[in-house]
Amino acid sequence: MKLVFLGPPGAGKGTQASGVCQKFAIPHISTGDMLRAAIAKGTETGLKAKVFMDAGKLVPDEVLVQMVKERLSESDCVNGYLLDGFPRTVKQAEALDEISKPEKVVDVEVPDDKLLARLTGRRVCPACKGTFHITKLADEKVCPDCGGELIQRDDDKPATIQNRLNVYHSKTQPLIDYYKNAGTLCEIDGDQAPDKVFEAIEVALGG
Ligand code: AMP
Repeated sequence: MKLVFLGPPGAGKGTQASGVCQKFAIPHISTGDMLRAAIAKGTETGLKAKVFMDAGKLVPDEVLVQMVKERLSESDCVNGYLLDGFPRTVKQAEALDEISKPEKVVDVEVPDDKLLARLTGRRVCPACKGTFHITKLADEKVCPDCGGELIQRDDDKPATIQNRLNVYHSKTQPLIDYYKNAGTLCEIDGDQAPDKVFEAIEVALGG
């Protein structure tokens, strides 16, 4: 099962991807998480990526393509993968077709006004990677799953969010046509309760 999850930031890709990976026993490969781990480690890639990420811009294609190529060559990807946040440009999609062509592309769409509310209220737990919305938290600073300290991602600050949405519409949305033409696109309405979104994805992936 080789899967790609498309969709704007805040559409719930990460949450849905975790459930799908458990179900199909494939690794969840989030390029955003990989880049944040590289920043935390202080690697050369991390240092280079941070400037782009903090501005809400895309990290250059060459960096991402090399990173994903290496990751997909690891042994846990023999039965497939779920790529979350990659590809984000037509160039990356073409490179992925050369490395390992995806079988299905799940596009989770949510209108921009809803995304803004979701992203400004998003808090993440660096310890367990959980994602929460402030309206659902008893304490904005404490992870309800593991007790870790919740933080707001630097790129979830309002000034950066609009940039990220603009970048999605101009650079990533063209991939919808790219995968429509390839016959692999599954369009999912992400503007509904998370369990309903999951059901729709299961149906699209054939149960
Ligand atoms: P995400 O966690 O997927 O929202 O990614 C956070 C940030 O990491 C993005 O806003 C980009 O700056 C960078 N990033 C992640 N994946 C990619 C990609 N495939 N191409 C370029 N930049 C990326």
